[in-house]
Amino acid sequence: MPADRYGMEARSAYIHVPFCRHRCGYCNFTLVSGRDAWIERYLLNLKRELALLKQPRQLDTLYIGGGTPTHLSSNQLDRLLEIVDEWLPREPTSEFTIEANPSDLKDHRKLDVIRQHGVNRISLGVQSLQPRKLDLLERDHTPREVHDVMNAIRPWLRSISLDLIFGTPDETLDEWKSDIFEASLLPVDHVSTYGLTIEKGTSFWKRKHENSLIELDEDTSASCYEYAIDRLSELGFEHYEISSFSRPAHRCQHNEVYWSGKPFFGFGPGAASYTGTRRDMNHRSTSQYFKLMETGGPAVFESETLNQHRRAKERLVIGLRRMEGWNLAHFEDEYGFSVHGLVGPKLKELIRLGYLIETDSTLKLSRAGLMISDSLWTKILAD
Ligand code: SF4
Repeated sequence: MPADRYGMEARSAYIHVPFCRHRCGYCNFTLVSGRDAWIERYLLNLKRELALLKQPRQLDTLYIGGGTPTHLSSNQLDRLLEIVDEWLPREPTSEFTIEANPSDLKDHRKLDVIRQHGVNRISLGVQSLQPRKLDLLERDHTPREVHDVMNAIRPWLRSISLDLIFGTPDETLDEWKSDIFEASLLPVDHVSTYGLTIEKGTSFWKRKHENSLIELDEDTSASCYEYAIDRLSELGFEHYEISSFSRPAHRCQHNEVYWSGKPFFGFGPGAASYTGTRRDMNHRSTSQYFKLMETGGPAVFESETLNQHRRAKERLVIGLRRMEGWNLAHFEDEYGFSVHGLVGPKLKELIRLGYLIETDSTLKLSRAGLMISDSLWTKILAD
């Protein structure tokens, strides 16, 4: 496979739309808020970036995320999707996801545009169905609006995914149980649950350091996560990745591309492309992205060619995010290392401590490992 990202044979692409009405207090994503005047310039530069492909690429999965893609006006959304249709055509069977904010979809013109361009999966940034949590998270929708949007999109969409956040300040397990209960009443095919982490650079971080916001204790947060795993499984969702739960045949195919190490294109500020051996990351700053594209592009800020050892370690960690884990023989065939040869004695220790489970043929996360997966990855990746 050619190492150049525009020459590669990827069948998946991610488009980053870096605009939001307001930056939520917990969010440190690549985005700008209150800069709607930049949207036209963004569309122009995205078109330039896609034109670097030289020829349209047929895709199996396309994911438009952000930011909030549905923050664009219906006319801008239409033009964004026209650009995407020209350069990234899909088959009717391809998965085409757009991330959406429930309050934006009250505008039926936006829904019409999304539908006309063949989007068949919406990932709704709901985060909670409890007014207290929505208020704390600075979300601009109500639980009622989520219900109304669901009713409007369910008849024509193949798949609906919902994001929920647990572990917010002052949250109780009962409050989280109510979130799961109310989500279970909605006609959704997929749920992603995320534990809140307070990141540097967010207003939550500042408030935490001023003692005006207290992070939830780890035990309550872990109980929320365990409850989600148990309850969503009882409700018929398959827990197939650390944060992801799906009804049968509704796994997110685009994310499966990431977890299985296949190549993908990324366009827009901060988007990454992966050729299988090289990763290219676009500039995270929207204004720098514009400048780079306006002087001929590409907008790449950082590139990394992975040596065989690094690539195998990354693949091990990313693959372990999936509940089925790794087939040991497949891993060795594909990456040229046994998992023990690659990680060394640390791996035996993690198995002995019960965070990973090794059988004759597989290696996978245990329930205890799920609870602390981020720190496991740091240990495995360290040289
Ligand atoms: S809407 Fe989503 S992407 Fe935008 S600021 Fe809020 S959390 Fe971040």
